Amino acid sequence: MAKKVLIVGGVAGGASCAARLRRLSEEADIVVFDRGPYVSFANCGLPYYVGNVILDEKKLLVASADLFQTRFNIEVRTEHEVMAIDRERREIEVKRLSTGETYRERYDALVLSPGASPIRPPLPGIDLPGIFVLRTIPDSRRIKDWIGEREAKRAVVVGGGLIGMEMAENLVHLDLSVTVIEMLDQVLPPLDPEMAELVHQHLQAKGVSVRLRDAVASFEPSPEGALAVRTKSGEAFPADLVVLSIGVRPETKLARDAGLALGERGGIRVDEAMHTSDPYIWAVGDAVESRDIVTGEGNVAPLAGPANRQGRVAADSICGRDARFRGVQSTAVCGVLGLTVAATGANEKTLRRAAIQYEVIYLHPGHHAGYYPGAKPLHLKLLFSPGEGRILGAQAVGLEGVEKRIDVIAMALQKQATVFDLEEAELCYAPQYGAAKDPVNVAGMIAANALRGDAPLARWEDLATSGAMLLDVREPAEFAAGHIEGAVNLPLPQLRRRLPELPREREIMVYCGVGQRSYYALRILAQHGFKVRTLPGGLSTYVQFHPRLTSAGKAGS
Ligand code: FAD
Repeated sequence: MAKKVLIVGGVAGGASCAARLRRLSEEADIVVFDRGPYVSFANCGLPYYVGNVILDEKKLLVASADLFQTRFNIEVRTEHEVMAIDRERREIEVKRLSTGETYRERYDALVLSPGASPIRPPLPGIDLPGIFVLRTIPDSRRIKDWIGEREAKRAVVVGGGLIGMEMAENLVHLDLSVTVIEMLDQVLPPLDPEMAELVHQHLQAKGVSVRLRDAVASFEPSPEGALAVRTKSGEAFPADLVVLSIGVRPETKLARDAGLALGERGGIRVDEAMHTSDPYIWAVGDAVESRDIVTGEGNVAPLAGPANRQGRVAADSICGRDARFRGVQSTAVCGVLGLTVAATGANEKTLRRAAIQYEVIYLHPGHHAGYYPGAKPLHLKLLFSPGEGRILGAQAVGLEGVEKRIDVIAMALQKQATVFDLEEAELCYAPQYGAAKDPVNVAGMIAANALRGDAPLARWEDLATSGAMLLDVREPAEFAAGHIEGAVNLPLPQLRRRLPELPREREIMVYCGVGQRSYYALRILAQHGFKVRTLPGGLSTYVQFHPRLTSAGKAGS
């Protein structure tokens, strides 16, 4: 066991590494350095502190320097910045920020957990007062104070990622009118665009204005003392404050300057034991690049769960245990003004880039049994491999029960389970919580039916070019209220007796409201020798791809 362990960064990864080390070794001399005034604070709680959901700042302090000392016998030096690593001498150079004095400290093992810094693009006006990023407790205080002192009414959030969405929600809580500017064609990049469309609609319904496909070009002071955020399209958005949330960059300066290897995505390269390219240095958290469980590529996933787990693995490794980090799968959840959005594994964009073959299904069940009051729709997308049915990723959006389904699928994905395993998963059920066939089971069944050839799937993107007959098996009134252009209506109850009206040579693509009746129809048609596939998720999925038809396309079962 190394005698002296120095840890750079005392929040998620660093603090969990330090505490685990002490649990494994009473002898180790452990010192944690952080350039900020706090260690072990809840960065994930910061947006809610800004939004006055968390009222007491002290609640954000998970553990103090004093607690580390008294409970764990770990020395914490806050406001001490580590400036350089001397790998030959196994020393670090530290600057005491209160005095500017520097000193050296020797190590037997060094752990880097410096996190990731918010990106601040060098745009004209970026340093104007009123433009904020959110990473630390002092950042959150500055935003709160600014809103209070200026009596801010209008906020622009630049970037529609996880933190951008959380900030939009919390600024709405404070009664600010909020505009989100996002240069991509969707918010929340872990989602595929048709799933993000559900979030766009919800944001608009909650009064948040969303400007997509437009990048910020500059910030200008406006005559009445506020700001104008000018975009590439030439529009100017007035704002009393701006929150920049356009992503984070791994803090790799220390590692780079010390000649440690970096990965292809710019994070510190580590192996499964969180070892860097130097045998005496480990690295964890947002700063590192880990293996992605699905693609096998390097992945920089700035999330608290991986940082904590990696901290533990590094501690085990330093203590000579054979610990291995399994890799990251980007499991994440985000609340957006009452809507829950969650995802795990790869999305279609990632799978295409990594040239991994996949199939897609959608389903739109209630979050619990429909007969029990209060069931809310849940929109779930599952990606799996065409041959063995290995789970590759899942995304879900809804008001209730979203994260529970994604958590189950996340665990299955990590264990390399298949859609056949989801079919068989035994999950808890009482009517107020789920269904005897839980949405996770149903997702497995739809996918497994497709792989067994019982219910072949059509792809939504093939709709226009397939030449297939498009068959809508809903009731005439539903069809009249809205349908896919070119579809023929033949309601399910009439299907058996009207089979002679259907073509035998041409393929049939069948759909209904959410995919249930079309599945029954498919089984009838398939058993009568028709060439037929279903469009997964029915009209409810179609309107995600074609939002303009939303008013026409009310989906049933
Ligand atoms: P950090 O927790 O960022 O800690 C790094 C520390 O190192 C910092 O305190 C920094 O001051 C210090 N440091 C850096 N360089 C030096 C140096 N040279 N010398 C001394 N000290 C140094 N993740 C989720 O999974 N769910 C969420 O809901 C979520 N919400 C978030 C909300 C916000 C506003 C933010 C900012 C992050 C959120 N995250 C969330 C991400 C999560 O907080 C990070 O993934 C996690 O904290 C990473 O841990 P880390 O130890 O790598 O880095």
